[in-house]
Amino acid sequence: MKSLRLRSFAKVNLGLEVLGVREDGYHELRTLFQTIDLADEIVLVPSGRGVRVVCDHPLVPRDESNLAARAAQLLRSYGRIGQGVEIRIHKRIPVGGGLGGGSSNAAAVLLGLDRLWKLGLGPDGLHRLAVKLGADVPYFLLGGTALGLARGDEVYPLRRQIRGYTVLVDPGIHVSTARVFARLDGRLTTRENSNSIYYFVSRELEGPGGYRFLQNDLEEAALEEAPELRVQTGRIRDVLLREGACLASLSGSGSSYFGLFEDARPAKRARAALDAEGFRAHGARTLTLEQYRGAWGRSRNRLRQ
Ligand code: ATP
Repeated sequence: MKSLRLRSFAKVNLGLEVLGVREDGYHELRTLFQTIDLADEIVLVPSGRGVRVVCDHPLVPRDESNLAARAAQLLRSYGRIGQGVEIRIHKRIPVGGGLGGGSSNAAAVLLGLDRLWKLGLGPDGLHRLAVKLGADVPYFLLGGTALGLARGDEVYPLRRQIRGYTVLVDPGIHVSTARVFARLDGRLTTRENSNSIYYFVSRELEGPGGYRFLQNDLEEAALEEAPELRVQTGRIRDVLLREGACLASLSGSGSSYFGLFEDARPAKRARAALDAEGFRAHGARTLTLEQYRGAWGRSRNRLRQ
């Protein structure tokens, strides 16, 4: 029986603007997504008639609340597939770090099972299933540098794809995404005219730079929600900027903090400097849309009998 091995990549938010609360209760966002090559490994093994998750990470559920399992169930009913699947997840992406691990796993399972079950839906056909699973899932059908609008689920690839290096620290402090948004709601003013991300996008089309226009609106609320994180991120940010990061920011609602570098050498130095200060820093390269698609092409070759 054929099984499929794939990589499920993490993302960072290079910028994130919260514009207001919509009538349906969700937040109206404008965000810049970027895939990085930090990845979980997923193996899909056709088996039995149900969906089973195998994962030894203590913070990842193995029941039907696992986002990867929900993705498989949804596609199975949509495609009226009788066959079951075992989803083996080897976690490398920090869990609950704002790096989109669960959403990425869900998208990888949709793309992988679409291929394994020969449904032929592709990223476009899978989009409406992805939206049902979570606001970040549609982005992972695409990857690369992309603009996310609405709940973050309306995704537009940028013409200019960023090639750079990230240095990440996961302080391992849990910050509840719902609580961060709730805290922000209290002081939200309508900002439809806010334009930092559009500013960046237009600058990007003109040439390098523009990162100074980017900000993460969730950062302050996340740091208020977890005051112990404020001290740590202050130190991490200082090191990243000192070593030449063109952007230093919390990803999503945290708690991962990252720096973006245009060159490999300063990124390496920043990583060493953070390690010397007692942080465990990871280096990861950004992936363009094309590189993301290429990684999918390679996973096809790993189809085994
Ligand atoms: P979000 O901002 O959507 O909460 P995140 O990127 O901060 O996401 P994730 O690693 O996706 O964090 O994990 C969020 C929660 O989702 C965790 O509490 C975890 O228990 C749950 N979860 C469900 N399925 C998965 C999965 N396949 N991988 C990781 N976490 C999962």
